[in-house]
Amino acid sequence: MNILDGKKTSNDIKNEIANEVVSLINLGMKKPHLAAILVGDNGASETYVNAKVKACERVGFDSTLIRLNDNITEDLLVEQIIKVNNNDSIDGLIVQLPLPKHIDEKKIINTISINKDVDGFHPLNIGNMTLNLPSFIPATPAGILELLLRYDIDTVGKNCVVLGRSHIVGLPISILMASNSKPGNSTVTIVHSKSKNIKDLCLKADILIVALGIANFITNDMVKEGVCIIDVGITRIKSDKTKSGWKLVGDVDFKSVSEKCSYITPVPGGVGPMTIAMLLKNTLLASKSKI
Ligand code: NAP
Repeated sequence: MNILDGKKTSNDIKNEIANEVVSLINLGMKKPHLAAILVGDNGASETYVNAKVKACERVGFDSTLIRLNDNITEDLLVEQIIKVNNNDSIDGLIVQLPLPKHIDEKKIINTISINKDVDGFHPLNIGNMTLNLPSFIPATPAGILELLLRYDIDTVGKNCVVLGRSHIVGLPISILMASNSKPGNSTVTIVHSKSKNIKDLCLKADILIVALGIANFITNDMVKEGVCIIDVGITRIKSDKTKSGWKLVGDVDFKSVSEKCSYITPVPGGVGPMTIAMLLKNTLLASKSKI
């Protein structure tokens, strides 16, 4: 069993990005600049946004964090986004999800300029990605592809089973794995909550990508020998073995399943760190596409 080490790989990518930033500056260009909008005081969102701001510092990007009240109106939020869209000093914009219930997420995502949509959630970016045209690829699927690429995992003609069909992970990664590109060219099955015989489907997987959000869903009897597993899930569960009283686990029962795997991502330290690295990569791309 080999570990697909997202922590190390994301560090390598951050070093590469930091070097590119130095080269840009040496050429007299400005630093890439990421803006993040955070609405309300959701603890998890706060943690994610802070990690993104910190990652910007690490690679030498500028960043702007725009904090807005929970009770901001949809119209005012749209106004803020348009301001960032029109600000030439900002290359990329993310709006941290989820948003408060009174705000229509689709409308907000549609308002972000597609040239600054470094999360890759805008329908035009998703459309371009689907057609294999230049686009921002959503960071988590992009991170999965990058891991497969850097570990030289053969995906051509393989049975890839994707569990989950969310717009941010399951759906885009299933499109990308099926597309005529590298990595890609897999034969893809998408599994969701209405799917039947999930165990049988999983047993056929050469590559299993799990993005459900259900702790330890995949057990040893659900996978075949030699499978490559990408575990996207992150769930916080209670633990009496840690100081904090909780720990993070994936959708895969790592202990029992890993012995059967050719490759597997750990949780934490697998897909999670890759997501931030790819957001930085998209921001660099956004800044360079203006040069
Ligand atoms: P989501 O929007 O909640 O989607 C979950 C998907 O799982 C849905 O498509 C749902 O099917 C399917 N599902 C739920 N229960 C199922 C069951 N019993 N059998 C089969 N399918 C089932 O989740 P998400 O945003 O994609 O996130 C998934 C997990 O990945 C979460 O733990 C999240 O925290 C984690 N995540 C991690 C990263 C990272 O950077 N590592 C990034 C994003 C998300 P339906 O469509 O039929 O409802």
